[in-house]
Amino acid sequence: MIKEILADLVRIDSVSMRSNAEIVAYLERRCEALNLITRRFPYTDERGIEKINLIALTADVTEVELALVGHTDTVPYDPNWSEATSLTERDGKLYGRGACDTKGFIAAALTAVENVKANKPLALIFTADEEVGLLGAKKLAQAQPLRVRYSIVGEPTSLRPIRAGKGYSLAEVIVKGREAHSAYPALGASAVFRAARLINRLESIATQLQQDQHPAFDPPYTTLNIGLIHGGSAKNVLAGECRFTLEWRPVPTQPSEHLLELFKAAIAEEQQADPAFQCEVEASRQDTGFETARDSALVTLLEKATGNESGTVAFGTEAAQMMALGSEAVVIGPGNIREAHRTGEFVPVDELERCAEMLRRAIQNLCRA
Ligand SMILES: [Zn+2]
Repeated sequence: MIKEILADLVRIDSVSMRSNAEIVAYLERRCEALNLITRRFPYTDERGIEKINLIALTADVTEVELALVGHTDTVPYDPNWSEATSLTERDGKLYGRGACDTKGFIAAALTAVENVKANKPLALIFTADEEVGLLGAKKLAQAQPLRVRYSIVGEPTSLRPIRAGKGYSLAEVIVKGREAHSAYPALGASAVFRAARLINRLESIATQLQQDQHPAFDPPYTTLNIGLIHGGSAKNVLAGECRFTLEWRPVPTQPSEHLLELFKAAIAEEQQADPAFQCEVEASRQDTGFETARDSALVTLLEKATGNESGTVAFGTEAAQMMALGSEAVVIGPGNIREAHRTGEFVPVDELERCAEMLRRAIQNLCRA
C-alpha cells in the first residue's frame, strides 16, 4: 500500500519549475478518500506558473495539535535516468526522483493517517517550491492559515529527529571603482583592491563570529562564505566594478541581521578612510533557523519511536516556517540526504515502513484526547 502511494507520487513529475497542480490533485483525492477536509492555497510563481500549497484537516478548524509537512516539488532529474518517474525496487531499496526527498515521507504520512484514530485535530501540509527557496512554506507562514502546536517536517534524515537547523542568508556585494589605464593608477580607483579590503574584514568577522557558540551545531557558530567573485574587464585596466556573493548560516539564537550590521560597520570604516569608497549590499535571502528544545514532548517522542538521538543540521528546512505558525518543529524522514538530489535517489523500504509506524505513534500520542 505505502509502496503503491509512493509509486503514484513518483510517477507524477513535480520538478519545481513545473506547476504542482497534478500532484496536488492526486493528494487531494487521497485525502478526501480518508475523509479529510482539504484547502488549497494557490499562488503564481515569478515565472507566471500556478503553484498550490494544500492543507488537509481531520476537522474544520484553524488550530491543530499536529501537522505532518511534506514538500511536493523535487529537484530536476537527468532525462536518461529511466527510473526517475517509474519507482523501481531493488535489494530492499526503492529508486526514483523524490523517493527520499520527500515523496517517501508523504507516502508514509498518508499511510499513518489512514491507520489511526485522532481525537485532537491533525493537519497534513503539502507545500510547493521547497527546493527553490522554501517559497511555498514562506507563503503559508505569511498567510497564517493555521496555528500548529507540533509539526513534523519530512526531509531525508535516516529517521534521525532533527530539532534545530541553522538559518540561511545571502547577499550580493557590489563594489565600485573608477576605470583607468593601469600604467597610471592615480587616475582611477581599483574596485578589486577595494573589494579585497572588504573581504579581509569579512575574514575577521568570520573569526569574531566564532565567539558566539551554539554547542548543538557542527561547527558550533555562524559561518560565512564568499563563494563567487567577479571583477574587472582587462589585465591592464583598473577594475571599475567588483561583485561577490556573501553567504552566511546563522545559528538560530542569532538574528540574520547581526552579520549584516557587522559588515555595514566595516563598510562605514572603509568609507571614512576613503571618502570615494562606494559599495552596495543587496540582501536577497534571510531564512531564519529553528530550534526546538531537547526536552520537548515531540523530540522525546520521536527519539523513543526511532531509537535515534536527536541532532541538528546546518542547512535550511521548512521547520522555520512551521515555527512561524506557532509550532515546535522536528525534521525527520526516511532515506539519506546524501542520496537526494542525484541520479539513483532511493529510499530503503524498511525505513519507509518504519517512518509510517513512527508517524502513527506520533499521531496517537499527541492527538489522542
Ligand atoms: Zn526536501
